[in-house]
Amino acid sequence: MKKKLKDLKHEYDIIIIGSGLGGLTAANVMGRNGYKVLLAEHHFQLGGLATYFRRKQHIFDVALHGFPIGMKKTMRKYWSKELAEHIVQVKSIRFDNPQFSLDTDFTKIDFTNKLVEHFAVERDIAEAFYRELAEMNFYDDNNMINMELFDKYFPGRNDIVRFLMEPITYANGSTLDEPAITYGIVFSNFMSKGVYTFAGGTDLMLQMMKQELEKNGVDLVTSTEVEHIMVENKQVCGAVINGQQIACRAVISNANLLSTINKYVGRENFSAEFLRKVDEVRLNSSSCQVYLGLKPGESFDYIGDLLFTSTCPFFSPEKVISSDITSRTYSVYYPEMRPGTDDYTVVASMNSRYEDWAELKETDYLAKKQQMIDDTLEHLDQYIPGIADKIDFSEAATPRTFEHYTLHGGGASFGTKFEGLDVSMKLPEQLDGLFHAGSVGIIMSGWLGAANYGVIVANGVDRYLSAI
Ligand SMILES: Cc1cc2nc3c(=O)[nH]c(=O)nc-3n(C[C@H](O)[C@H](O)[C@H](O)COP(=O)(O)OP(=O)(O)OC[C@H]3O[C@@H](n4cnc5c(N)ncnc54)[C@H](O)[C@@H]3O)c2cc1C
Repeated sequence: MKKKLKDLKHEYDIIIIGSGLGGLTAANVMGRNGYKVLLAEHHFQLGGLATYFRRKQHIFDVALHGFPIGMKKTMRKYWSKELAEHIVQVKSIRFDNPQFSLDTDFTKIDFTNKLVEHFAVERDIAEAFYRELAEMNFYDDNNMINMELFDKYFPGRNDIVRFLMEPITYANGSTLDEPAITYGIVFSNFMSKGVYTFAGGTDLMLQMMKQELEKNGVDLVTSTEVEHIMVENKQVCGAVINGQQIACRAVISNANLLSTINKYVGRENFSAEFLRKVDEVRLNSSSCQVYLGLKPGESFDYIGDLLFTSTCPFFSPEKVISSDITSRTYSVYYPEMRPGTDDYTVVASMNSRYEDWAELKETDYLAKKQQMIDDTLEHLDQYIPGIADKIDFSEAATPRTFEHYTLHGGGASFGTKFEGLDVSMKLPEQLDGLFHAGSVGIIMSGWLGAANYGVIVANGVDRYLSAI
């Protein structure tokens, strides 16, 4: 039940800090298993980055561009059949950049055909590339980096690297120097059957999830920041929430991994060797977004659901993240997304660096945001002619916005880089009852990765609580 802080129990089996998809899913699994669960979220709304907001007659989805088919099974097994039924395929994904323009449904068959027919790759080579990706296993000792993987199959073909890598880079700032294994697993997940979305929008999904959590007896508190994770004799024993101490037998932190360790638990509770690893963990990059809503009665023709666009003549992950914006991903939401409305919205997403926004004075910050909106409208005009005159709402989010709403250091959109996973998984070895289930690396991030990590960690907590 959504509760006020004063109405909470004095003790829970488990306190979950944060209601991102990792925290929400862990809470649901633990609640179903009969544990006394408290889920505490600092924002007034559930969802973390998987969120939405309302302005005028519009609802804007923040992070609903697409996820792999695996989300359907995760919803069915760990949420409900009804939630799973809302997962539907995204129809058309377009790439448009100086190297190529094409439409794809993002399935392996279509991607292979595009490699052969559009990029003139021999079919055997394209298939061998996919085979290598499919055989990648996270636990393998494989040091290959993305650039080496692409060079092996498509030497000198920056256009093909763009085709294969740009969507993943757009999403989470992955670079060509990162382990090929993380790219391979995420890309293969998408390739299995295309890209999917939640029909009805993020608002409906979160409403349905809230009902499910309440049904499973999870206590929910929002607008409450967990300030401290209490530890006694190397064992978690509670949390301080808005100044109030609440006892528990275990904590799952869905907050950023580094804040969990450095801020909420405190470095004094960890071994020096562990802290050395912690200090090597890099935060992931952040995002900017521009939100556009059409005036009532205005419309535009179908232009695809997801458009990966760039004006840069070649592909470079550095350029994708630069504040001199050349790359924009447009998510286009037609009225069919929310049947019964006639709302058209467009969300443009850009990768960004926190440093490019962090120190700006308020007036410069507002001016830079407005410039980003104006540039986006000018660029989008080629796909939706007259867009600037059709809208009645525009707004922009920056890394500062993401930091404000999620408390992630640097406004990180995808938690930490891949080295965070090992640290996250080894937290329980440092302190009994301390667990983390939030975005780390690209495998445990994104809607599917975060939700699945929530399940994995909830199962670990179940084993821990059953044994003590
Ligand atoms: C612009 C953008 C677009 C994206 N698009 C996609 C997409 O199309 N597909 C996809 O799969 N993924 C996408 N993602 C990524 C995806 O949304 C995230 O990886 C995923 O939702 C993260 O879930 P999480 O469990 O790690 O938690 P998060 O979403 O990071 O949530 C953590 C929660 O913890 C709360 N919290 C933190 N500290 C405290 C505290 N001390 N006390 C209480 N609460 C606290 C925060 O408020 C937050 O609600 C996108 C991300 C961004 C930013």
